[in-house]
This record gives sequence, structure tokens and C-alpha cells, in this order.
Amino acid sequence: MNRYLEVLNQSFDKVVIALNDKEGRAEVHVVDLVKQDENKLCFDVEEGSTLFDALHEHGYVSLIGVNDHVSIKVNGFVLCVGESDTHGKMLFCIEKGKGEFRDEMNHVNEDFIIEEEIVPAGGYYVNDACILCGTCYAVCPKQCIDTAKDPVVINQSECIQCGECVKVCPVQAIEKK
Ligand code: SF4
Ligand code: SF4
Repeated sequence: MNRYLEVLNQSFDKVVIALNDKEGRAEVHVVDLVKQDENKLCFDVEEGSTLFDALHEHGYVSLIGVNDHVSIKVNGFVLCVGESDTHGKMLFCIEKGKGEFRDEMNHVNEDFIIEEEIVPAGGYYVNDACILCGTCYAVCPKQCIDTAKDPVVINQSECIQCGECVKVCPVQAIEKK
């Protein structure tokens, strides 16, 4: 159990995510933490929003929670793990990364690591219709498709379920399960 994630989940309802937009300008987004499991750091994001697109594109996030005297920063790889309970939103969880915990009142200043691997339920799989064209690999933001296999194989622990590969497959060989 990561006690820093516990503190973050127990003490914060929202965190701020920092991003660079397509022109490289910094922007921030406030997101709601989803406390389904105190050992995971999860938040929901409106599907199709700028933040949603950026998380899919980069698969990485930097966020911070701040209250009266405690601040927690986390930088890590993020996965979309499916639909959130909040209508129209998708749930993202930090897969692995590192963080900084600061408690000014109690003079605590510690770094921590998030190592837990989250494999999303379901996922995209390639069937025998695959003609090994490699188009899916070319568009995959995580480059997580093994094109040396026949049919090609999607690495489920790396896939962020963005669906880009499905859109370009010429023979509809990629299915969501
Ligand atoms: S859904 Fe397809 S394109 Fe997106 S990360 Fe997974 S394998 Fe890559
Ligand atoms: S795009 Fe479709 S046919 Fe081409 S390699 Fe990927 S899964 Fe196979």
C-alpha cells in the first residue's frame, strides 16, 4: 500500500493537471479524484476534451494536490481503464511513476514511487484476419503492437485503449473485448 496515495485519496477531492497545448503553451485542468481504490490514483475526464486527447496522445501526466500545509505532486504514466461512473466521462489511473510529498507543518519532505501496474479490463485484440500491413503500429501512440507476430499482438499492459489502431485497420482485424 502506498501511504502517499492514501493521503491523496483521503485528503483531496480534486487535483490540478498541468499540460502543454499543441502550441507548447502551458495550461492547467482541475479534475475530480475517483476513490474506488485507495491504492490507485484515478480521476475522470470528459471524453473528447482537450485533456482527454492529450492523455491519450502522451500517456503521461503531471498533477498536484495542495491543501493548507500538504502538497503532493505525481508524475507518471496514465492508462484509460474504461468508463467512469460519471456520465460521459472516462476513468484514467496512474500506472507507474514518482511523486513528492511535502508537509510544511510537520517538516516532512519525501519522494515516493508508484510501481503498481494496472491492466485495464477488456482491451483491443487482433484476430486472424490480420494481413500484417503494419498500419496499426504506425498510428499507435504507445507503439505497443508486436508486428513480428502473426497476427500482430497488442501488448495489453502498454495499450491505453485509444482505439486509433481500430480506425485504420483495412480488414477490421482489431476487436474490442
Ligand atoms: S488502442 Fe491500438 S493504437 Fe491505441 S494504444 Fe492500444 S494498440 Fe495502440
Ligand atoms: S492494421 Fe490490421 S491488418 Fe494491418 S497489421 Fe494491424 S491488425 Fe493487421
